[in-house]
Amino acid sequence: MSEISFEDYHLSAEIKRALSVLKYETPTEVQTKVIPLALENQDLVVKSQTGSGKTASFGIPICEMMAWEEKRPQALILTPTRELAVQVREDITNIGRFKRIKAMAVYGKEPFSKQREELQQKTHVVVGTPGRVIDHIERETLVLDKVKYLIIDEADEMLNMGFIDEVEAIIKELPLDRVTMVFSATLPKDVETLCHKYMKNPVHIEIAASGVTTDTIEHRLIEGKEEDKLSLLKDVTVVENPDSCLIFCRTKEHVDTVYTELEAANYSCERLHGGLEQQDRFAVMDGFKQGNFRYLVATDVAARGIDIDNVTLVINYDVPMEKESYVHRTGRTGRAGNKGTAITFATPYEGKFVKAIERYIGFEIPKTEAPRTQEVARGKEAFEEKLGGRRVVKNNKTARINQDILKLHFNGGKKKKIRAVDFVGTIAKIPGVTAEDIGIITIQDQMSYVDILNGKGSLVLQAMENATIKGKKLKVSKALK
Ligand code: AMP
Repeated sequence: MSEISFEDYHLSAEIKRALSVLKYETPTEVQTKVIPLALENQDLVVKSQTGSGKTASFGIPICEMMAWEEKRPQALILTPTRELAVQVREDITNIGRFKRIKAMAVYGKEPFSKQREELQQKTHVVVGTPGRVIDHIERETLVLDKVKYLIIDEADEMLNMGFIDEVEAIIKELPLDRVTMVFSATLPKDVETLCHKYMKNPVHIEIAASGVTTDTIEHRLIEGKEEDKLSLLKDVTVVENPDSCLIFCRTKEHVDTVYTELEAANYSCERLHGGLEQQDRFAVMDGFKQGNFRYLVATDVAARGIDIDNVTLVINYDVPMEKESYVHRTGRTGRAGNKGTAITFATPYEGKFVKAIERYIGFEIPKTEAPRTQEVARGKEAFEEKLGGRRVVKNNKTARINQDILKLHFNGGKKKKIRAVDFVGTIAKIPGVTAEDIGIITIQDQMSYVDILNGKGSLVLQAMENATIKGKKLKVSKALK
């Protein structure tokens, strides 16, 4: 860890307060390199792996530099997947919580109208997948003339997925006078070309990949036959007895097979693959984050960029076909100072894929034997005991940052000509409450939501039951969400 602290960056008190609640005490390597330059509005090309703290490396400067008063979006962040868009939105919201930064995510499969309505509200940061961002641009529901920051996250994956034309089309809609930052785990030619074409003398920053993959993660390889893998999986999980475990398979079909087998053996598990409805994918992801189940069987959709705290064991049930994928999958564990284990099952025919991965990561994955029968028998009792219990989530950052916040619902909005200032005016007059205690305000046609910070929620709720806003009596209650 570096000796630099967040105090060195002259960040505003609101941002520093969020970092302290999030328990970000020391900047990670990528943060020490990116934050000072980003604060000086420098174009950047950053080669760094997921798990390195890269989201906060752009999230912190962006939140710092947003002009709160501006209604139109000032930062646009492009991500390859919907899951990552939602994750980045959550990270930005957490970092910007006390500065009342409004970040929203736009992605396909969610109703367009809902996003359109949200975009009409004050929005500082828009995080989105390329296709839906273009839809919003074309239908003129996303106004880009105030965008000062463009972030392309996971650029290599974006181009792998064939989004190059969309990304270029979006860039062309943005003001020229902007800062562009590109983040990518690898820097293939097409990413470099894109950067040259659209960036102004970008500074290149490279964070060594090895630090991420070997210091904090113990890598192991177990060889076995395809038909023995299900029983091998069970033996390994019994012996390892992980608090939380991600099992990666190559195909949806393998995910279904493994999931069905574990489910039948009473594992507390769920599955995730691209064949599921988006809402279900989010629900599974959330459930895993909250500790509702211990084992998640997934295809690579879950591997990219998704921040799940404290995954202790990653199992590659199938060797990943792409070497980069090995890094992304195993990077789900050993995050932010925690230790993790990554075990890969390889059949005799997969030697060449393993070799390619080893060349890419720069070391040989140590081979180990499959667990012995006695070992499995010895582990059985502890394993079953853990399966019966709930997973304790020690580090739910969002819950922590929201713990002193109460969202209030008012049954009146634009139709009654109510504006944000009307809420601020009324609420800040309540004895013991100041404008500082008011968070994000969202005004819809028929209703409004106001976040009350600093544990003052009940006080405001009580006072507002008898108060009027702009001379109108509104019904107030705790918001359901
Ligand atoms: P990322 O690479 O952005 O996916 O971040 C990896 C993990 O590190 C996430 O759980 C972050 O919340 C966490 N994190 C980011 N910055 C810091 C920091 N300075 N100190 C501790 N944890 C951090």
